[in-house]
Amino acid sequence: MTNPDPHAALREHLAELRLDQIAEIYPEVMNEAARKNCSPLDVLVTLVAAEVTARRERALQRRIAAARLPKRKTLEEFDMAFPKRLPKQKVLRLFDCEFVAQHQSAVLIGPTGIGKTHLLTALGYTACERGVSVRFTRVVDMLNGLTAAQINGTLAKALKVYTTPSLLLLDELGYLPIDKRGADLMFQVVAARYEFGSIVITTNRAFRDWGKIFDVDNTLATAMIDRLMHHGEAIVIHGDSYRLKDRPPE
Ligand code: ADP
Ligand code: MG
Repeated sequence: MTNPDPHAALREHLAELRLDQIAEIYPEVMNEAARKNCSPLDVLVTLVAAEVTARRERALQRRIAAARLPKRKTLEEFDMAFPKRLPKQKVLRLFDCEFVAQHQSAVLIGPTGIGKTHLLTALGYTACERGVSVRFTRVVDMLNGLTAAQINGTLAKALKVYTTPSLLLLDELGYLPIDKRGADLMFQVVAARYEFGSIVITTNRAFRDWGKIFDVDNTLATAMIDRLMHHGEAIVIHGDSYRLKDRPPE
């Protein structure tokens, strides 16, 4: 094993294999190993483990970027005692993310300011950390995007954005009315994911009012609820807005 310039050869091989982390740290790891009398096996383990860690971190950052999540929120920051009523076990069960593998869905129902977006965002980050592909969007943004794509003749491609991730997080159903075309597009997304992928939706409207959100007859709302709830769970939260919590009474 003689090589006129082993470092140059090693760096070349590491570059070809894209082992960037090893390339960066191996001189220091080897020096330290020499100082501490570590075995060659220890060195190998340290280098490979560092590469694995760096790759996992990069993959996580890629998943988070692809998910388009809002500013980070965590489950730990969420005060479970604040809402008057919260099905805590159901919420905690979502965060173990097993529902994603089962292609199950959930609908978070509650008044404004109760923490629906907070929970949905936190769930998104947790799912990314578990290796799940996630996409977060407000319903209105998704429907605007899909409507534009339909007009431009690129609907099939645009739909993939919302049908391919394992977990689709749809925020804010019900604040704005949805027209006939929007209702149709929303149904296409829900139907395409049915039994293939998970959806978690937040809404301020009870199921019985979903017909009013869509500017069409009730059958579409019913068909949508059917698909979401066939393998899904309604998580109803009661209480006051957290935004107003510290405001003194008038
Ligand atoms: P919603 O989407 O239901 O209207 P948000 O999730 O936007 O409500 O919550 C409003 C604000 O209050 C956010 O900044 C959120 O982090 C915070 N918040 C809501 N509920 C809680 C809670 N139980 N514990 C801690 N922060 C909360
Ligand atoms: Mg919200």
